[in-house]
Amino acid sequence: MPESSMLAVAIDVVNKSIQTVKKLRDIDLKMQTAEYKDALADLLTDMAELKIKLVEVQEENLKLKKIIAGQDQKGEIRKAFKLIRNTYFLESELYGYKPGYYCQHCFEGTGELKVLTPFGIYFLCSSCKGRFN
Ligand SMILES: [Zn+2]
Repeated sequence: MPESSMLAVAIDVVNKSIQTVKKLRDIDLKMQTAEYKDALADLLTDMAELKIKLVEVQEENLKLKKIIAGQDQKGEIRKAFKLIRNTYFLESELYGYKPGYYCQHCFEGTGELKVLTPFGIYFLCSSCKGRFN
């Protein structure tokens, strides 16, 4: 089972448990001791906190998955690059990036793909202002 599904199941279980505790609280008419009520209230609070934490873990998990997918993409792009005249040349379109010359400096520095503009015998980067030939 994927982690995100396991978390969704865990959150479901917490939700059901919260409902059960609420039901217990409602049907308990004979045991009206303060201790019992306090314990139930504590349990509800703990479960609500647990639910919040699980949702946070789920969000963090999704974020990390996106980062990993992005790194996989960059790895594929890196493999496809050819070093030509101090630039990275992409022969065919990949992940929406058009064939052409890309700034080596920007890709290695920030991981961003910046298209280079031919200018005379140079290629210019509008982002880092680099000039390559
Ligand atoms: Zn650049």
